[in-house]
Order: sequence, then C-alpha cells, then structure tokens
Amino acid sequence: MRTVKQQSWSVFVMVMSVALVSLVGCETNPYTGRSQLLMTSVSQEMQMGAQAYDQVKSDPKMRPSQDPREIEPVKRVAARIVEAAKRSKYAEMANQFQWEVTVIKDDKTPNAFALPGGKMAVYTGIFPMAKTEAGLAAVMGHEVVHALARHGAERMSQGQLTNAGLQVIGTAAGAAGGGGMLGQAAMAALGVGAKVGVLLPFSRKHESEADYIGILLAADAGYDPRESIALWERMGQVSGGGAPSEFMSTHPSHETRIDQLKKWMPEAMAIYQTKPPVPAALLPSVQ
Ligand SMILES: [Zn+2]
Repeated sequence: MRTVKQQSWSVFVMVMSVALVSLVGCETNPYTGRSQLLMTSVSQEMQMGAQAYDQVKSDPKMRPSQDPREIEPVKRVAARIVEAAKRSKYAEMANQFQWEVTVIKDDKTPNAFALPGGKMAVYTGIFPMAKTEAGLAAVMGHEVVHALARHGAERMSQGQLTNAGLQVIGTAAGAAGGGGMLGQAAMAALGVGAKVGVLLPFSRKHESEADYIGILLAADAGYDPRESIALWERMGQVSGGGAPSEFMSTHPSHETRIDQLKKWMPEAMAIYQTKPPVPAALLPSVQ
C-alpha cells in the first residue's frame, strides 16, 4: 500500500513531466541553421526580460546618464538597429518587442545588453571601445541578436536539465504568473548576471552567432560593418576594471573572433554597399 504522501508525489512528478514535455520546443536559427532547444515561449521570455530590466533599473548603482551627448548617439544607433531587425529574418519577433534603451552612467564598465522583449542598456564604459556610432552599432547589433536569437532562453532551457537550473524553473514559472523577482540564475541566463555578481558567459556558439548576425544588422542599418573588427581589436587591448562584462569574456578569443568577422565581412559589405552611409560620428568620451 502506498501512502497518500507517495501517491501525491507521483501525481506531482507526472504533472511536472507533462508540463515539461509540452514546453519543449526545437527551433532552427534562420541565419545559421543551428537547432536550438527551447522550453519557454517568447511571451514568457518577454515578461522575464521586462522583469529583469526593472530589477536592473531599480539598482541605485545603475545610474542612468542625464547627459544628452551620451544619450542621443545611443538612441540614434538603437533606433537604426531596431529598424534593421524589423526588416530581418527576425521581423516578426522584432515587431512584437517593446524596444527601449537606457544609457547607464558607468565609465568603468565596458558593457551593454539586450533582453528578450527588446529592453536594452548601454554602459558609458563601452564608449572608448566603440569609439564611433558605427562601433556602437557593432556592439548593439551583437546584443540585439542575443535577444532575437533567444540565446538567454536557450541557456535557461539547458539549465532546466541540470540541478543548477532548478532555480530557473521556479523563476520562469513565477514570471509566467507575473510579479515577483527573478532569481540569480535567471538573471545570469538572460545576460544581466553582472547585476547580481554572477557572470555567466554566453557560449562560443552564441557569441559567434551574435557576431555574425550582428554585423549583418549593423550593415543593414547603414553602419560600416568593418568597425566590428576595430572594436574587437580595441577590446583585446584593455582589461575590464568595473563590473564583469560579457565583452571581457575570453571565448571565443579576440583573435578567433576577428578571423571569423573577416570571413563573414564580404556578406556584410555587400549589404552595406546598398545602403546610404550613416556618418560615423565620434562618441562623447573620445571627442
Ligand atoms: Zn555576446
């Protein structure tokens, strides 16, 4: 005879298994053909992205810049990248996102992120590395692809298969119901781990995908995609001083990254050459 407790446990396990199986989905990246295991829906991810953004913005250390010389160029580049995303193979999702960008006044942290749902942040510490609006377009193109290609969601889905990810299941379920705070694991998976002191670097595959599709978006937005190479060369010369940044993670190595970018450049240049060029204005901190 099984006890009531054992029976309710087996019912619980059965319900959870059904719930998990129904959530499992396989997607194919429209640019690279890579197949991705995803256990969350886009709307669930958008909700989590919005929650993570609120959490970042509520941190008193994340002071938004009040300087129009810092805000305006970021807004210009973001708007052009978003327009390009809306013409891309991710058009459907890009049109669904509620895009927003914040400039965080933190000269020591060379970082930027874009969350599922289109919430973006650029730290002023990235300006010396981006140097021009075209360099910033390479940064933002890269970040926007992490969101559009559902890299955070993929990390959460991979996490769900491990013990370490159990915390993510809980938070994902909580986020679906609205309200509540996202846990560290979810924040880290979404790419804002620096906020909670955990840096979970994106995988090498995610980074390469973001670099590749990112330069196609930047080129389509009218920015010279060759600036991405100059950007990564500058990244290679500095070591981060502030909070951990995904740009300071070392995989792929800067050399591998630059080699790959050179290989993809003809495709990006072919797009760029059909676009009216956008002036590569200098960013404020390097003027
Ligand atoms: Zn990245």
